[in-house]
Amino acid sequence: MNVYSTICPGCNFGCGLYIRENGKPEVDFRKSSPANAGKLCRFGMSLSRLYAPVKSTVDGKETSLEEAAKEAARRISAGKGSAAFLSFGNTTCEELLAFQKVAESYLCTGANFEALPKDAYQTLSVGIPYSEIEAAKHIVLFIDPYEQYPLIVRRLLSARKKGAKITSVWWKDLPLADENIRPADVSKLQLTKDSLVIADFHPLSDIEQVKSVLSLAKNAGAKITFLKPFANSTGAYLLSKDAKQKSLAQLVEDINKGTIKTLFCLESDPSELIPAETLGKLTNLIIQTGQAVTAKANVVIAHEPLYRKKGTLVNNEGRAQALGGTGTGGLDALGIIAGTKFEFNSLHESVKKALGISAVDEFTIPGYDRPAYGAIQASSKPAEAKTALVSVYNPFMWYGLPDDNDFVEVNLNMVKALKLLKGGYIKIKSNGSSLEKRFKVSPVQDNVLLAGRKFGVEKGISTPVEVSR
Ligand code: SF4
Repeated sequence: MNVYSTICPGCNFGCGLYIRENGKPEVDFRKSSPANAGKLCRFGMSLSRLYAPVKSTVDGKETSLEEAAKEAARRISAGKGSAAFLSFGNTTCEELLAFQKVAESYLCTGANFEALPKDAYQTLSVGIPYSEIEAAKHIVLFIDPYEQYPLIVRRLLSARKKGAKITSVWWKDLPLADENIRPADVSKLQLTKDSLVIADFHPLSDIEQVKSVLSLAKNAGAKITFLKPFANSTGAYLLSKDAKQKSLAQLVEDINKGTIKTLFCLESDPSELIPAETLGKLTNLIIQTGQAVTAKANVVIAHEPLYRKKGTLVNNEGRAQALGGTGTGGLDALGIIAGTKFEFNSLHESVKKALGISAVDEFTIPGYDRPAYGAIQASSKPAEAKTALVSVYNPFMWYGLPDDNDFVEVNLNMVKALKLLKGGYIKIKSNGSSLEKRFKVSPVQDNVLLAGRKFGVEKGISTPVEVSR
């Protein structure tokens, strides 16, 4: 009774696993899972830390889910016209459909669809089956598979075993790549119709970079697939791609301007993506969640964690997966906020209709339309800063879970130029802040520091910095 057959929320790869509640949640391997055949990465093995218990509170005082949801409803309605609704897709399709109804006035899923051509939405939203990756002849990576989407490494190794050539366009040489090209030298990349491009798409994506990879693939007639970071990013994007929505950058601007004063976040910790000084300008931060968050919220509506929920997730391949629980606390809370009752069964029917399926079956990938997109004009890339700290966003970073990688990766040229001492530190200055970090020598691009952890000075993916010993 206390074992849940569920999906890892660490990224949108869709790895199946069991969670056993034994005092705290314990992870077990689920070998029958089609996305990962039971294998899990370090993050998947850390889920008991992610699912730390959380309590409903209003202004710091513990209360019930109902009272917290009622108070949230009062505050949202008092600030009518100045409330925004944010969810990155960390929850079920059924909850996300209900959320869209609540959020009609100002919806943000983190996907900057507004800045992208509409005919590319489907390509951006739903990727290709992993079996097609294994069968590709030439794979081009615009990601670090080891750090960002670890379970894809097995698929890439399998493709390589079958003779695929792997090219990486990244700031560091990747051990599984036959050819390593630096992002600034992308013009050296040779694509053909046999190439398969793997990039990623998320709330911090550089839109010009997204357009650029779409355009490269289009011009060569190559396939392209986008990986995504949240448990149900694909479901969230598929369900909301025709909805009117704002980008994360627009939301930050509107909070800074004071036009948005109340922010309601569904299963999304805003402190990972919105600067603290911006969050500090809100009158009300309301978070509905099933796991502990780091943001200081005025109202926390706490319900069951994801693995105890009833509902559907959609992974990068478009595979619909049932969560193994029975909980509908999230829908109940959204119903209190909307002043209505959300029925699971009717939302589930709408989800199946939107995905074009008659039943949720994780062993069958629905036959999605994958229409070709038109020519895309990508603007030329601005010159890279002389020295930059590049954040390699990985599951630990998206969820604000501390990892043991409290260092930056630099190359030997930087170590020699700065006369860094073995076992010592590198000083990093940026945006008026200064910090000292341990360093690791890796085959990284000149003048780049790679980090798999946030240090508090970052401005997006690439942050200009000054470095010294
Ligand atoms: S690859 Fe992604 S989904 Fe799979 S175990 Fe790791 S974090 Fe979880």
